[in-house]
Amino acid sequence: MNSFYRPSILIISLLASAGLRAETWVQCGGLIDVESGRSLGASTLVIEDGLVARRLDGHPSVPEAAERIDLSALTCLPGLMDMHTHLTSQSSPSAYIDRFTHDPAEIAFQSSVYAERTLMAGFTTVRDLGDSFNVSIALRDAINTGQIVGPRVYTSGKSLASTGGHADPTNSWRVDLMGRPGPREGVVNGPDAAREGVRQRYKDGADLIKITATGGVLSVAASGLAPQFQADELEAIVSTARDYGMQVAAHAHGKEGMLRAIRAGVHSIEHGTMMDEEVIEAMIEHGTWYVPTVLAGAFVAEKAEIEGYFPEIVRPKALSIGPMMQDTFGRAWRAGVRIAFGTDSGVSAHGGNAREFELMVETGMPEIEAIRTATLNAAELLGIQDRVGALAEGQWADLIAVEGDPSNDIRALNEVAFVMKGGEVYRRPEG
Ligand SMILES: [Zn+2]
Repeated sequence: MNSFYRPSILIISLLASAGLRAETWVQCGGLIDVESGRSLGASTLVIEDGLVARRLDGHPSVPEAAERIDLSALTCLPGLMDMHTHLTSQSSPSAYIDRFTHDPAEIAFQSSVYAERTLMAGFTTVRDLGDSFNVSIALRDAINTGQIVGPRVYTSGKSLASTGGHADPTNSWRVDLMGRPGPREGVVNGPDAAREGVRQRYKDGADLIKITATGGVLSVAASGLAPQFQADELEAIVSTARDYGMQVAAHAHGKEGMLRAIRAGVHSIEHGTMMDEEVIEAMIEHGTWYVPTVLAGAFVAEKAEIEGYFPEIVRPKALSIGPMMQDTFGRAWRAGVRIAFGTDSGVSAHGGNAREFELMVETGMPEIEAIRTATLNAAELLGIQDRVGALAEGQWADLIAVEGDPSNDIRALNEVAFVMKGGEVYRRPEG
């Protein structure tokens, strides 16, 4: 062993035997303080036991026992949080046929790749809204126990739909294959089945409930806008979820389905495409979160131009619904709707999540506001704002660093140079 290392190893082992862990001092060239909205100059984050122990101005000298991470050429900010992903899938022209050929084990291995890409792109926390075979639940657990690399995952497991609804898993299948999926498979009709569907998700180990309150773009069905649950079903879902401390996230494009879901008390509206004045007012009145997924809209509109990428029944929906999302987003944030960042990644490619920021800023939203939707706001949506989202003292050490200043040029977030989650480094600057 190189004698140079001996003293520090001795100190670390002494600290370890005393039940203390060495600190890590992260020296940032700049730091975006999402709470004040200001870009701070040189700053140091002292990390201990996976938490931000202290925040210091400048780069004070590092104690001998501490590890030093030099990010003095980079700007630090809290780890990004995407409130709408699908880590177990990714759209492609073969996605529809894949459902008949991919075994759960294949999906599991593939999702571990998507999870790693997401973390390496700077997204340290995601909310995963709809999977198959409950793979995202096992994925979450494998990440939490350190078996694989990925973001913190809060997942709904399989979504709840009504028969023929957006998340009915056997839509368009041949009649002898279609079967009769029920609450276990995520298909519920009537309040009793709705309650059973929620309780089954609880039993499966989901963190929250996802429902498809209206039709959707990518399902093989005619309407993307029609409401797909009635008020008594929504009420049963929301009140049962509440019993288990679970939030309800509602996929919704059309107005009527959105209004019903908001009035029933869902926690967030996903996509929200046909949101008009009346819906915006209801969102504000009920304090409902809006997760825009503008990137998904842009992506499906682009791919629908390619012959054969989507089934013919999907194409007109993608062409008409997709381009509306950015306009809706611009109107909603100007009106004061609470917004948390979400991309629907899995529609678009995993790891490209940060492109959503550009689409948000294009509507006039200031860069710092866009960053807040993926930090402070997302943490608040999840109800974990005391643990994460601001790099405040005592919070989880989830932080990233980029070249340039994303509060001036949001595209800086497309290239993440450094990723730390829970005090552990997953990505270091090259060279
Ligand atoms: Zn989605």
